[in-house]
Amino acid sequence: MFENKKIFILGMARSGYEAAKLLSKYNNKIVLNDSNMEQDEEHIKELRNLGVSIILGEHPDEILDKSFDYLIKNPGIKDTHKYVEFAKKNGIKVINEIEMAYHFLPKGVKLIGITGTNGKTTTTTLIYEILKKAYENVHMAGNMGYPLSSFIDKIKPKDYLVMEISIQQLTNFIDFKTDISVLTNISEAHTDHVGSYENYKKIKKRIFNHHTKNDIAIINKSDDESLKITKDINSNKIYFSSQTQDSDAYIKEGSIYYKDEKIIDVKDVKLVGNHNYENIMCAICVAKELGVDNKYIIEVLETFTGVEHRLEFVKRIKDRNFYNDSKATNNKSTMIALSAFNSPTIILMGGLDRGQSFDELEPYMKNVKYVITYGETKQKIKDFCDKIGKKCSVVENLEEATTLGYNLSDEEDIILLSPACASWDQYKKFEDRGDAFKKYVDEIERMNVND
Ligand code: ADP
Repeated sequence: MFENKKIFILGMARSGYEAAKLLSKYNNKIVLNDSNMEQDEEHIKELRNLGVSIILGEHPDEILDKSFDYLIKNPGIKDTHKYVEFAKKNGIKVINEIEMAYHFLPKGVKLIGITGTNGKTTTTTLIYEILKKAYENVHMAGNMGYPLSSFIDKIKPKDYLVMEISIQQLTNFIDFKTDISVLTNISEAHTDHVGSYENYKKIKKRIFNHHTKNDIAIINKSDDESLKITKDINSNKIYFSSQTQDSDAYIKEGSIYYKDEKIIDVKDVKLVGNHNYENIMCAICVAKELGVDNKYIIEVLETFTGVEHRLEFVKRIKDRNFYNDSKATNNKSTMIALSAFNSPTIILMGGLDRGQSFDELEPYMKNVKYVITYGETKQKIKDFCDKIGKKCSVVENLEEATTLGYNLSDEEDIILLSPACASWDQYKKFEDRGDAFKKYVDEIERMNVND
């Protein structure tokens, strides 16, 4: 399928580089183009030696013509790009790196794909961690891990392949098919890439493409949108729900069940929050359907503290629990974080001012005993707290906020970084903010040891 062809790769990054490298082994004529001049020198040298034509810094009209068979586009590039429009008009197949690499997979690989509006990364990681304990040859690729093209040679028949699949990747799927697809949930988000919410839902449904009753779909029983879009799929449907016991995976009297078998007590699970119990149930459905022994599932659930920066348990110091939820860059994520705890909470909030209001957080603040705010939005958050009668201190930065949070805390309090704002006023990215928080928590621990 990808031999002796003319292939245009739009967008270099890691996946474009890996795609070009893989395809160059099969006598394809490859043109790689990226508007960004700054690319890895070594990669460029290597690809040029393999015969790949590389054009950087511009998108000249003449480099793409009707003689090409495929256009492999980076998932971040929109369908309105002039090359993509040209390709579609002229019968050139537009795909992405995963769709291409999929065709090189040996037969018999068990492919598990995870998509949804929220919880993809957490669910994918849980599934990967559990399968890795139970089986020898388990790989993770796609949105997380390395591009599939980069280790296709290492994948053998009967291996397990776990992939987080974004809406952008689904957009250009044609033949790609999983054995098990997980749809965590669906709500209105990211529609700028796909035009409308209706279209977003249509594209999300592609995670079940080409399924027959021998393939498995894992679906949220309490999510109407998920139920609607999966109504007419052919898969064998397995349901999970944190709301109703009328499903395959469910919560009853403080324990998580799968098909009437108790798997684990919620109190023994390290992750917190209903949303995480839903992610866990997705992972349990996959693991049980793949015949994984309960002991491996339990081992992971008892120790997995969360994907970094997503309501990640950091440390317990002097009977206070610190959580890093730096990925919470909007109110919605902070609401989810606040809903996860029943203990008195000191929340550290603030960051980039996008002109947003914080009013919608009010119903979620009942366990919050203190707000500490910093960053561009600090005055706005202080005003909000004054309005709803919550104690609030304004400080200059996250370091001061963390120290004050600890000083104000009592035993069994939660000290939660869940900023409800982007980090860009003080940090390059939310990961840097989360890392800084964890460093300050480490310092608090060190000071306590030295006491
Ligand atoms: P994604 O990869 O889909 O962005 P993550 O696992 O990285 O999801 O989680 C990001 C944030 O999304 C979390 O910090 C939490 O606020 C929220 N979230 C996670 N899982 C769920 C879920 N099942 N339902 C609703 N919100 C969730």
